[in-house]
Amino acid sequence: MNRSDIFEKLAHLEENINQINHDMVNLKNLTVELIEENVALQIENENLKTLIDKEEKTKKIETDKKNQPKRPLRSKDNLAMLYKEGFHICNGELFGKHRKGDDCLFCLEVLSE
Ligand SMILES: [Zn+2]
Repeated sequence: MNRSDIFEKLAHLEENINQINHDMVNLKNLTVELIEENVALQIENENLKTLIDKEEKTKKIETDKKNQPKRPLRSKDNLAMLYKEGFHICNGELFGKHRKGDDCLFCLEVLSE
């Protein structure tokens, strides 16, 4: 291997490393996007479950006043868990986004409702 070959190989290697770095950044951004979307969907799902629970409760109370619905609302627990995991659960543009360590008063308000 002569000296110019070595330089050529180094240049090629550097190019590859730059490409890998670039791909890594893209992949990381994509992962963050997917996780945030996943959290947003989970929150929406919890909200829908809460709505259904409420409707079922109302129906049960209307049809059978003796039968107390004992199933607790789990949605609040799941939202609290998501908040603890570091995501926004408040409505608005931050919905489902990562809090990056910041506390959010709007989220805390949702939890205290
Ligand atoms: Zn928030």
